Amino acid sequence: MIIVLKPTCTKEQQHSFANMLKENYNVKVNVWEGVHSTVLGLLGDTTSIDIEYIDAQSVVESVKRVQEPYKKANRKFHPENTVIDIGNGLKIGDGSLHIMAGPCSVESESQIVEIAKSVKNSGATFLRGGAFKPRTSPYAFQGLKAEGLDLLKIARKETGLPIVTEIMRASHIDMFENVDIIQVGARNMQNFELLKELGKTNKPILLKRGLSATIEEWLMSAEYIMAGGNSNVILCERGIRTYENFTRNTLDISAIPIVKKLSHLPVVVDPSHASGKSWLVEPLAMAAVAAGADGLIIEVHNDPPHALSDGAQSLTPEQFDVVAKKVFDLKNALK
Ligand code: PEP
Ligand code: MN
Repeated sequence: MIIVLKPTCTKEQQHSFANMLKENYNVKVNVWEGVHSTVLGLLGDTTSIDIEYIDAQSVVESVKRVQEPYKKANRKFHPENTVIDIGNGLKIGDGSLHIMAGPCSVESESQIVEIAKSVKNSGATFLRGGAFKPRTSPYAFQGLKAEGLDLLKIARKETGLPIVTEIMRASHIDMFENVDIIQVGARNMQNFELLKELGKTNKPILLKRGLSATIEEWLMSAEYIMAGGNSNVILCERGIRTYENFTRNTLDISAIPIVKKLSHLPVVVDPSHASGKSWLVEPLAMAAVAAGADGLIIEVHNDPPHALSDGAQSLTPEQFDVVAKKVFDLKNALK
């Protein structure tokens, strides 16, 4: 961290400020005295220093971080890729490609079981399905809730596919005990109380990027979970808000190599929510695999025109079969 002091800062003020920094934050303070201003360079772990607090001090002209504010999610302190072991030989981040597929919402036993069987046959390694749905309108289908979780478990029993489903509040964590991967949706990426509670569990967490979150904010949310002791975090790029309105969101392909460079956590890409259009899922999925994604999460419905949510972006099982073949072929070609 670099702190530029005001030209009016006296020697005495400078010493007491530097001493405060050393004592409170256990950092080394280097001082460079120029003609017009003095600059302090802080060495050590500066992650716990509140930059706004420093900026508010009367002797400070400006302050700048030179190190990322996240530590546990940072590849600098953990050079190897994190591999998340889901059991049954499934590992996310080990170089293999995973596809999490299934409907936006769990709607009935026959729907989820039928879709689970077909996506498994096409090579999906996880079943996705929302039971608690974050909908823009309070009048839209809100999910089958606890019953939806039970139906996902039935589908898991029938197919052996581990399940991925979204949590919306911390008081539901016990209900998600038997879920294989807990999804934190884009809208909850900065629900810090939820993240802190998930940090106390050892569940794999699929952390979706917020609608308008920067990469640093996204990694700071991963840090919240990891700071609580849970390092099983999978990042999910699902498109961000831009001025473009042809697509539901804009898939940030560059986020894949960027977070892989900055962090050791695995990255999954959601081309369905990124585009909002089923015909765009294939090219975006291919681009994501080419850019280094560890997995894809794709919405599949057995009757998209009648889906209770996100029908327009859902692939039919037949379309999914084609996409899955193409992405696995691409993955093999890249090896
Ligand atoms: C979902 O996966 O169904 C979902 C609501 O995703 P997101 O949080 O990315 O919008
Ligand atoms: Mn959806």
